[in-house]
Amino acid sequence: MRTLDSLGEVEGKRVLVRVDFNVPLLDGRVRDDARMRRALPTLMQLRERGAKLLLVSHFGRPKDQEPEFSLAPVAERTAKLLGTEVVLAEDLDDIPDEDVVMLENIRFQPGETKNDRELAKRLAALADYYVNDAFGTSHRAHASTEGVVALVEHSAVGLLFQSEVETIRMIMNEPERPFLAIMGGAKVTEKIGVIGRFLDLADTILIGGAMTTPFLRALGHSTGDSLCEDEGIEDARQALERDRYPDGKLILPEDLVIADRFGDDAEVQILDGHDIPDGWMQLDIGSRARTRYVAEIRKAQTIFWNGPIGAYEHKSFAAGSLAIAQAMAAHHGTTVVGGGDSGAAMREFGLADSVTHLSTGGGASLKLIEGSSLPGLDALTN
Ligand code: ADP
Ligand code: MG
Repeated sequence: MRTLDSLGEVEGKRVLVRVDFNVPLLDGRVRDDARMRRALPTLMQLRERGAKLLLVSHFGRPKDQEPEFSLAPVAERTAKLLGTEVVLAEDLDDIPDEDVVMLENIRFQPGETKNDRELAKRLAALADYYVNDAFGTSHRAHASTEGVVALVEHSAVGLLFQSEVETIRMIMNEPERPFLAIMGGAKVTEKIGVIGRFLDLADTILIGGAMTTPFLRALGHSTGDSLCEDEGIEDARQALERDRYPDGKLILPEDLVIADRFGDDAEVQILDGHDIPDGWMQLDIGSRARTRYVAEIRKAQTIFWNGPIGAYEHKSFAAGSLAIAQAMAAHHGTTVVGGGDSGAAMREFGLADSVTHLSTGGGASLKLIEGSSLPGLDALTN
């Protein structure tokens, strides 16, 4: 991985920096700039080294050039964060010669997601130097994340990108033990590769969230109306078999919070056991499981958490995720959170700054753990 230092002298040069400023807006303003702030060390360092910046980001999934997908509010917030003027450039062929320029939403260019070579060439022509600090998009081969790299003279990863990769590699290659993985969220099929890697590398794996359901089904339990990804049942069965469940590393919640519907007005019960009656669904882990899971966190030295442990968006089903989040925040070992929704939960609980590392790229970090290649990273690796 080529680092920022390897770029050498950048004084007076224009550096194209691919950032991930795909942030939530509210009423035409940036609602949460956490992700933008994570790129500031890279941007500040390049500015201090005398470089001019051309910031490139995608924003949402525009079909055409709809105005609601303009980066204008993001450019405005970037100016505040950097304390300098940021000019928004709409035309790729007419980039003003200012210190900090932001290119309008790169997905307004039809070639971006197709990794079109012509677009990559046009981007490469805009700068001598290329830096990628958008780890969250590195699992996609797009013109601004992959195609452009081979066409510029000097390229490197930014500081955020570097820390994302180094953190994941560290926990996979040399974790302090015990190494605990906590896997929640919705889809087993999306995460089964990661669970497989953890069966090799972790000491204990806690299962929670909607992901619990296919595991329960694989064990022959009835799961009522619980959200269940049916294609995941076979994956879960194989993981259980490989692990020689219950004698291996996988731990399922011993009790569950069940409800008659999804929402804050639901009737809620605790189910001691695993057979969920018809008309009911599991939406969180129960209090005995919570105690057990927290104890596992305290015992571990390295902890990786992906995926909410219940439908935490509703207060009645947030206790499991909150307990995990608090135990991780209070822990003195290495604590890593890698997931879009689990990261959002950390922020909602006000605990985002209390873990060792909060990934800005859920999908990309899972790919890295799984051992799949990241085109955006490969392009920047010698
Ligand atoms: P991440 O983005 O952290 O990888 P996922 O996208 O896989 O996580 O899953 C997040 C979603 O899973 C959340 O919207 C949450 O409400 C939902 N979820 C978690 N547990 C349950 C459950 N038991 N039943 C239904 N949905 C759940
Ligand atoms: Mg998600």
